[in-house]
Amino acid sequence: MTDTKTLIADSQRYIANTYSRYPLVLVRGQGCKVWSNDGREYLDFVAGLAVCNLGHCHPKVVQAIHDQSRKLIHVSNFYHIEPQIELAKLLCEGSFGDRVFFCNSGAEANEAAIKLAKKYAKDNGRGERFEIITMERSFHGRTMATISATGQDKFRKGFDPLLPGFKYVPFNDMETLLRAVTPHTCAIMVEPIQGEGGVHCPSDGYLQDLRELCHERGILLIFDEVQVGMGRTGRLFAHEHDGVYPDIMTLAKSLAGGVPIGAMVATEEVAKSFSPGTHASTFGGNPLATAAGLAAISALLEDGILESCTRVGNQFFSRLMDFKGKYPFIKEVRGRGLIIGMELEFDGSQIVIRCMEEGFLINCTMGNVLRFLPPLIVTPEEVDKLVGVLDGIFGEIGEGAGS
Ligand SMILES: *Cc1c(COP(=O)(O)O)cnc(C)c1O
Repeated sequence: MTDTKTLIADSQRYIANTYSRYPLVLVRGQGCKVWSNDGREYLDFVAGLAVCNLGHCHPKVVQAIHDQSRKLIHVSNFYHIEPQIELAKLLCEGSFGDRVFFCNSGAEANEAAIKLAKKYAKDNGRGERFEIITMERSFHGRTMATISATGQDKFRKGFDPLLPGFKYVPFNDMETLLRAVTPHTCAIMVEPIQGEGGVHCPSDGYLQDLRELCHERGILLIFDEVQVGMGRTGRLFAHEHDGVYPDIMTLAKSLAGGVPIGAMVATEEVAKSFSPGTHASTFGGNPLATAAGLAAISALLEDGILESCTRVGNQFFSRLMDFKGKYPFIKEVRGRGLIIGMELEFDGSQIVIRCMEEGFLINCTMGNVLRFLPPLIVTPEEVDKLVGVLDGIFGEIGEGAGS
């Protein structure tokens, strides 16, 4: 077995330098736990960034991958693919949608949504409509179109010229949005909860107002549910909390229990602008990924996981809110279900490292927002363990600040 030092040196030598990684080589996972190559155990509150909603190596997903890989791993979309058909049917039956386009990532799902929105405008004699309004602090992916859609400079810097036609407005601000809408607007694209941007929830009525505006002006509403869909908030899709339905929704991350997949779900009216030849993906909806997806959705819906997510999420949230009273450097706690952000008055990266030393993986986004995205099967006891560790770390910081 290669030693850790050599592995990390080779990683830094041979892999494109696009990630700043922790000095940790993870080799095994089961449920909410992962193990590093030196045998150390960690409780995982990152879950592959909201991918492993069912926990690591869920037996139903493992079985489905095993079974499908012995039957058929890949064929072209020239042919009908059984698990792809079944997964599309499940997604449509479980949502507002009528048709699904499959791809391999969140960025690709958003690419498909952007293309479909533009095509729909053209098909309906509104060729002048090409602008898409997105939100400040949003995140929609790393391809040229999706960084153009992303309302954060840091992701766009150095990649000019961007795709034209995107406009950014503050999240939760209808007034500014109304001023940004023009006869050129073809769609509004928004995360029902902003994840990467620091876990920002929509204010009451905001998504309804967006829906109403889009309806009145004949603008398409696109929900990017890549991070918060598939049960993360305690409902299958985050927009269900608001009782509002988009014209297009994008999914990826946890859709196939850890196997790469993306999906764009649309109403029949809008989806009909995609016809043979207008869009495609070689791997999109391939047998292996969609078989895993089928198993993942079935497990999510059949095993009471959504209920548990809500219950444990509420417990977690209220424990973190208690900290807000106790530690003055905590500015805000935000979230829904098991996506929770805790905004600090300072950079959170040291806290992530301290947690790791204690055997807990957590994430920090936007510099100062600790983000918690555990598998949805996390137990109250596991949450309590992390909360205890955080209490200790915050205590150390509190003392440091006071002395
Ligand atoms: C992660 C994410 C994406 C991009 O997904 P990739 O699979 O990394 O391309 C897009 N939108 C949101 C909201 C995300 O959280």
